[in-house]
Amino acid sequence: MCNNFFSVGITGGIGSGKSLICKIFLVLGVPVYSSDERAKWLLSHDDLLKNQIIQQFGEEAYDQEGKLNRSYLANTIFTDEERRQQLNALVHPRVGADFDKWRASCSASPYVLKEAALLFETGSYRQLDKIINVSAPKALRIQRVLLRDIHRSKEQLEAIMAKQWSDKQREELADFTIKNNEKELVLPEVIKIHKHLLKISY
Ligand code: ATP
Repeated sequence: MCNNFFSVGITGGIGSGKSLICKIFLVLGVPVYSSDERAKWLLSHDDLLKNQIIQQFGEEAYDQEGKLNRSYLANTIFTDEERRQQLNALVHPRVGADFDKWRASCSASPYVLKEAALLFETGSYRQLDKIINVSAPKALRIQRVLLRDIHRSKEQLEAIMAKQWSDKQREELADFTIKNNEKELVLPEVIKIHKHLLKISY
């Protein structure tokens, strides 16, 4: 891959602290692409994706003004694994294309970060040069997310975690793992990884 386009994935289970770690990288000057935020944006603004969703999920997926009917889609995929996978199969390629476009606009940066909860699960880690994994014990992750998202329950979080890879699986494939367990300091670890990435991406 062209050095100007050196791309690093950052992943981890729900509540592991990916976004928090990304903020540290941002402060160090590294551009960060948030796949989850961009996916939400694309669902409402990408005409190709919108048309594909209407074809597969029906006109109800959008209201008359073309706004995404989030609760309809969420209810449709919540209990139907096949539908959930169909939706992911539509969204992931569009996020991939959007990331490629964004990445090209960051060519002045030695490397960029792509943050995604499901980097391994979707196979998109294969298009990235290095992968950083953020890990934390499940109980701590649940505690954090319950504090952050008051509308969520412990049972919902356990159901989400059951669909994600375990920390052990991620650690085996990742190039770096940051243990965000509130016992070890993450800042020196981030700086160490950043220096290493600067060295290999130039
Ligand atoms: P998601 O997969 O849901 O997007 P995430 O992996 O991006 O989650 P964050 O949003 O970064 O996780 O962290 C979850 C919550 O835990 C946030 O409120 C964050 O501020 C808090 N948090 C993360 N790491 C720490 C830490 N080391 N000390 C204290 N709070 C933390």
